[in-house]
Amino acid sequence: METKIFSEGQIDDAVKLLAAGELVAFPTETVYGLGAIATNEKSVKGVYAAKGRPSDNPLIVTVSDAEMMAKYAKEVPERAQKLIKHFWPGPLTILLFVKPGSLPSAVTGGLDTVAFRCPDDPLTHDLIAKLGSPIVGPSANTSTKPSPTTAQHVYHDLKGKIAGIIDGGEARVGLESTIIDLSVANPVVLRPGEITPEELSAVLGEEVLINTGKVSDQAVPKAPGMKYRHYAPAAAVMVVDDAKDFAQINFDETTGVMALDSELAKIAAPKENKFSLGQNLVDADHQLFGGLRYFDDKKNIKQIFVQGFSGSEATLAYMNRLNKAAAGHHYQAK
Ligand code: AMP
Ligand code: MG
Repeated sequence: METKIFSEGQIDDAVKLLAAGELVAFPTETVYGLGAIATNEKSVKGVYAAKGRPSDNPLIVTVSDAEMMAKYAKEVPERAQKLIKHFWPGPLTILLFVKPGSLPSAVTGGLDTVAFRCPDDPLTHDLIAKLGSPIVGPSANTSTKPSPTTAQHVYHDLKGKIAGIIDGGEARVGLESTIIDLSVANPVVLRPGEITPEELSAVLGEEVLINTGKVSDQAVPKAPGMKYRHYAPAAAVMVVDDAKDFAQINFDETTGVMALDSELAKIAAPKENKFSLGQNLVDADHQLFGGLRYFDDKKNIKQIFVQGFSGSEATLAYMNRLNKAAAGHHYQAK
């Protein structure tokens, strides 16, 4: 299959493909999503096949607005209304009970809940509004690989497997949305993202719990995606929690390093084996997946040392993705 690249002006062509049941990747402010009409079971199953995604890992349903969402949610509790008013469109995914029979069970992985998201991207809004139906939108990467933040990343993973990609340039945030579970007694963040538990708590006026820990030993974890290997480049990744430890590491042709410019300047390593995470945490969020992919193209690199961050809730999303990429491996200072 030929994978067409669409520019912003060619949304109508992409809508036609989606309406016909084809798969089209689309830009959002977080990462690129792999779109398929959410009401068509065959199309939804095609998403799992294209990504190589386990079938018990449910898909996020992407809507153009809260009105569209209400057709597929069993109910929209007051908490959800508050969050939607404050954060939508934006990088917040809300887990609610699904309206029985409104979506194929392939979307929800057989669960009685469904995750809704309304991206802050005018292109995506147009696409879904013109289609008149929600689209599923998991990250548009091969399962286990870092999420794509450019159309080129999507093309690299899925060329020949999907009908098209809408090129909207680089994703602004670079890490996937925050997921909050509102199907339980107390709101819980299942995946950290740009919107922090603190911000959610301030809007809800109540405590928001965080559950992003190890769930691999639970048979049915709350966010099934969390039990799978994720964001894994070909080389082994090691988190360097304290940047001063970079000085202890011997860098050579087989090692890569990803760090802020201020640290990178102090590190003696071949230039092409250094990847800049920018000036600050916001830049690092934006660059993390691109950096992991950069080293995937360098076959000589066997190990990548990546700067870790701590100290505030704003670091949760970055560290969550980095820890998974590193399979929990942290550099131990000598
Ligand atoms: P991705 O599609 O790659 O952005 O990942 C979506 C994440 O949302 C995965 O971790 C899924 O397991 C999680 N998710 C989607 N739908 C549900 C649901 N109904 N219940 C719990 N987690 C969900
Ligand atoms: Mg993903």
